[in-house]
Amino acid sequence: MSLRSALLDWYLENRRDLPWRRTRDPYAIWISETMLQQTRVDTVIPYYERFLERFPTVEALADAEPDDLMQQWAGLGYYSRARNLHAAAKTVASEHGGELPDDIETLRTLKGIGRYTAGAVASIAFDRPAAILDGNVMRVLTRVLEVHEDIRKPATQNRLWEEAAQLVQGPRPGDLNQALMELGALICTTKSPTCLLCPIREHCKGRSNGDPERLPIKSKAVKAKKVAAACAYLERDGKVLATRRPPTGLLGGLWELPGVDLDAQEAPEEGLSRGLGERVGLTAKNLAPMGKVKHVFTHRVLTLHVFRGEAATGRVRREGYDAHRWCRSAALDALPFSTVAQKALTMARGENP
Ligand code: SF4
Repeated sequence: MSLRSALLDWYLENRRDLPWRRTRDPYAIWISETMLQQTRVDTVIPYYERFLERFPTVEALADAEPDDLMQQWAGLGYYSRARNLHAAAKTVASEHGGELPDDIETLRTLKGIGRYTAGAVASIAFDRPAAILDGNVMRVLTRVLEVHEDIRKPATQNRLWEEAAQLVQGPRPGDLNQALMELGALICTTKSPTCLLCPIREHCKGRSNGDPERLPIKSKAVKAKKVAAACAYLERDGKVLATRRPPTGLLGGLWELPGVDLDAQEAPEEGLSRGLGERVGLTAKNLAPMGKVKHVFTHRVLTLHVFRGEAATGRVRREGYDAHRWCRSAALDALPFSTVAQKALTMARGENP
């Protein structure tokens, strides 16, 4: 049996029943593929279901209030994905009559849609023979073809894209792409591939030459930089100050307790007092340390020092935030906080984050 047929037969029998596999709606498939980037399937499922309930169509997403959108995304991370979805939905609504384009070239003109997402939407929703290459597909291909080059190198990536493009030609391109991803997720796993159960073992050079776990070859990533910041749960007249980050940049459009990046060697409380003056124009009294939150971003490891205190009188003057609110503590929970800001809030309330 050909490699292609073996993959397709196996996929038909063994694929997991996932919510986005029960639809052919291009919009729903686009949302799922965007959420699944750098995020585990189990994490995505409840977000995907809530998101589609709240924004069931491209038009609904295009008309979404940014705070409402971020509320639905809060906790899923990589928030630029949500902002890009919003921008792209507006373009689809205004320039494409609310219908997602069915070819990769036009899909790629939309904000946030790169080569992978365009290939996934075109093949899964529209049956176009468009390739995809994600971590799972890369692992399967490097093993089947015994590719010993570093997969971080552009030349290796180009070669794998070409191989994926050849393989997808033929019937059921969407299923073929999903079969490759599913095989990587369930059988051809990073540490211990189950070659005995693999439907394409007869075609796999990595297996026949032994030790497929060595592949793919991946050079070490740049070490994440350590950074520190401080934030404050600032109360005045029974209300707490919350601030919103501007729409672009890290955690853009999300709410948090006001705070500041600390300079190297700067003491957290000292830096926070400076930062609160600079960023919200307020002086804090009785600042008490509540603990530290650790959070890992793609290239940074953040230590966030959390304080609780009172705000002296005076108007808020924002610098580097685009909105603020004084809220009762319970009302803070209705604002879209990022995961790290949510942990800080929980800690400031004296709960265990
Ligand atoms: S035979 Fe083993 S190494 Fe090759 S694709 Fe299948 S699971 Fe992966």
